[in-house]
Amino acid sequence: MAKGNQRDYYEVLSVTRTAAVDEIKAAYRKAALKWHPDRNPENKSESEVKFRECTEAYSVLSDPQKRQIYDTYGHAGLSSSAGQGFDNTVFQDFHDIFGDFFGFEDLFGRGSGRRGRSRAQRGADLRYDMSLTFEEAAAGVATKIKLPRQEFCEACNGTGAKKGSGVQTCHTCGGRGQLAYTQGFFSISRTCPDCQGAGQIVKERCPECRGQGRFEREKTIELRIPPGVDTGTRLRVAGEGEPGPNGGPAGDLYVVLEVKEHQFFERRGADLYCTIPVSVAQATLGTELQVPGLNGEEKLKIPEGTQSGAVFRIKGKGLADPRGGGKGDLFYHLRVITPSKLTREQRKLLEQLGTTLRVENRPAERGSSIFDKVKDIFG
Ligand SMILES: [Zn+2]
Ligand SMILES: [Zn+2]
Repeated sequence: MAKGNQRDYYEVLSVTRTAAVDEIKAAYRKAALKWHPDRNPENKSESEVKFRECTEAYSVLSDPQKRQIYDTYGHAGLSSSAGQGFDNTVFQDFHDIFGDFFGFEDLFGRGSGRRGRSRAQRGADLRYDMSLTFEEAAAGVATKIKLPRQEFCEACNGTGAKKGSGVQTCHTCGGRGQLAYTQGFFSISRTCPDCQGAGQIVKERCPECRGQGRFEREKTIELRIPPGVDTGTRLRVAGEGEPGPNGGPAGDLYVVLEVKEHQFFERRGADLYCTIPVSVAQATLGTELQVPGLNGEEKLKIPEGTQSGAVFRIKGKGLADPRGGGKGDLFYHLRVITPSKLTREQRKLLEQLGTTLRVENRPAERGSSIFDKVKDIFG
């Protein structure tokens, strides 16, 4: 029946052609325990081949449909997936047969062995709120945070049991986790006080964690906050959440940022806006101003005849986009300040000026409204 160098599946498992499913399962268990590479450290590569061989045989013979095809057509009848290896469903049976005895993911690198069966769960995600000054958020910052966190006890692998002692069924409740009391017609259940409802107790508690499997520890985590973050930005630090119960993977840490407002700048995305007051004379005659920028001062040239409300832009001097897409701009919005208190001399000069300086006091046409002007500049 064997084709090429493939051994007959019945021969591999040393069972007869009429063997029942239970017999095949038992034979496989025996063979797998014998050939598991962890049990054959001196002969790892040969045992791995044998282990795969018997697993493949079992994956076919334990499936009535595949077994019938194999009985009729031999290896050639099986689909390439069954013929060249075995599909992942066989790994689900491992836990029926062996429990958690072996780390199958490690052996096959598929991660399918624990699917849907395991008690191991992913740990909880943690949230850490962090406040930054505007300058820190603009420049980015490398910092350390101290996080009180449940740490997995390494001495007992999180089981809470002293090394080598294992767990046993709770005698008080017989593994049910609940105790029932009957009083007259009533039956009342309550959580078993000895195992706290787990149904299992450790024989001897791990001395490191006093049987808890974990303990709270302050963990220092280094954080790199990219430049340009804003209030509400959420940074994910993978694997720095709580450890998973029963040795499951850790959750993630989310650092949620709050950025304090700047004294002058208002932020819209990566762009910054600031209002600069100027005098009538400055706006009329033009000038050069030193204005606050993100990194020190910026020079802003005000041309002759600048109107109140005009907006000037300095390109690329805004905030960084934390998603890595360039930089925003700086916008300066000019406000011409009308003098409200004048000395006698100023009043005289202005009155004099007023006789020759005239504006037609008729409504501005719609096309020249301030909104249209701003739109032009923002483009
Ligand atoms: Zn422990
Ligand atoms: Zn109990």
